[in-house]
Amino acid sequence: MSTRIVVIGTGYLGATHAACMADLGHDVLGVDVDPSKLAKLEAGEVPFWEPGLPEVLTRNIEAGRLRFTASYAEAAAFGDVFFLAVGTPQRKGEFAADVTYVDSVIENLAPLVDRPAVIFGKSTVPVGTAARLGARARELSPVGEQLEVAWNPEFLREGHAVQDTLHPDRLVLGVDRDRPGRAEEVAREVYATLLGEGIPFLVTDLATAELVKTSANAFLATKISFINAISEVCEAAGADVTVLADAIGHDDRIGRKFLNAGIGFGGGCLPKDIRAFMARAGELGADQALTFLREVDAINMRRRTAMVDVVREQVGSLLGTRVAVLGCAFKPDSDDVRDSPALNVAGQLQLQGAGVSVYDPKAMDNSRALFPTLGYAASTLDACRGADVVLVLTEWREFRDLVPADLDGVVREKRIVDGRNCLDPEVWRSGGWAYRGLGRP
Ligand code: NAD
Repeated sequence: MSTRIVVIGTGYLGATHAACMADLGHDVLGVDVDPSKLAKLEAGEVPFWEPGLPEVLTRNIEAGRLRFTASYAEAAAFGDVFFLAVGTPQRKGEFAADVTYVDSVIENLAPLVDRPAVIFGKSTVPVGTAARLGARARELSPVGEQLEVAWNPEFLREGHAVQDTLHPDRLVLGVDRDRPGRAEEVAREVYATLLGEGIPFLVTDLATAELVKTSANAFLATKISFINAISEVCEAAGADVTVLADAIGHDDRIGRKFLNAGIGFGGGCLPKDIRAFMARAGELGADQALTFLREVDAINMRRRTAMVDVVREQVGSLLGTRVAVLGCAFKPDSDDVRDSPALNVAGQLQLQGAGVSVYDPKAMDNSRALFPTLGYAASTLDACRGADVVLVLTEWREFRDLVPADLDGVVREKRIVDGRNCLDPEVWRSGGWAYRGLGRP
């Protein structure tokens, strides 16, 4: 059955969700306040890099199932179901999440919704937000209690967003237990295709659903910082963290995923989400529970300085050294540079006097907008020309596939520092290069 769905906020999460809901056969309207983003989407162009999304977007626009607008009035008139997918960034100068965008959606939308409807929140929010938004929506809406707010947190990974939306590991729904309504029934209709494929569907209360998301991100961040802490010990002991990760990862209870030591995590989610989680726990009087996340954050941030130290150790002095930086997206298969460890390292190196030449297959425009003063190159070879040291900071396939012969005769010094432990040290050493990984001899 087709449902009339509105997706509010058409960034990485919302644009993907809108296109994928249309792909499931629903009639979808995407809403955003950014006119340039809307213009691109209306023209069938994804405003960011996400593999597979352009095809899903154009196919559904052409089929007449997907449109975009800036008008809340149009959205309220169109939708029976609303997904809220606006940003919840870190507040400036604080750990807490900035929830003004989600608040603003409710303030603008709820007064216009004049028939029974459900708003499903997908943004990552501090626990308690959904209940508060629900109360506000009931207050503002002409239909009162018949405008429901439920929470349906999103777990997609950039770079795999389409696959993760259409074939998620699980769906989680938080409903208001004090006001039994239609939210679960409506969610079952919207996700009927996915549920038919046997995807686990967990229905719970609002607070638990909000906490599922922040806990999942806290766990993933902890796992990365765990292996990075072990990597520091490996460095000190002359051991190899990559072999260690393989060995412990064979244990099902541990698992190999997210055990890659390197320059640490970044992006628009993990760093801000663990900080917001600590801030919220503090507000709730449970701050002691999450003090370990401070350490997780500290270990992670330390990786960036550690990488700069390793480069300095390799070249002697950074002043006047030419550094090729391969990769500036926070992870491969994405153009997202929010809180990118690679850009942080590049920026630190430049501040310390190095000449930095950055290349990324997809994130150049975003990077230039955020760090206009860094040096940028047109290709891997261009970035490496005359370099005293080459750094691999985002593990794009095209960098993992590099072999020494590609760069011999291009660089000034055959030195490579692998900030993601994604290259084969033997290949590089046997090619006459000085190879340095992180946490490995
Ligand atoms: P984003 O910045 O890419 O997108 C947010 C969009 O919301 C922007 O296009 C912005 O213009 C729009 N917006 C802001 N205020 C609005 C308003 N009042 N009305 C309509 N549109 C408005 O952010 P994102 O990465 O898509 O993240 C959105 C939320 O999803 C965040 O809470 C994030 O933590 C969560 N999340 C993101 C991912 C991810 O991989 N990016 C994964 C899971 C969850």
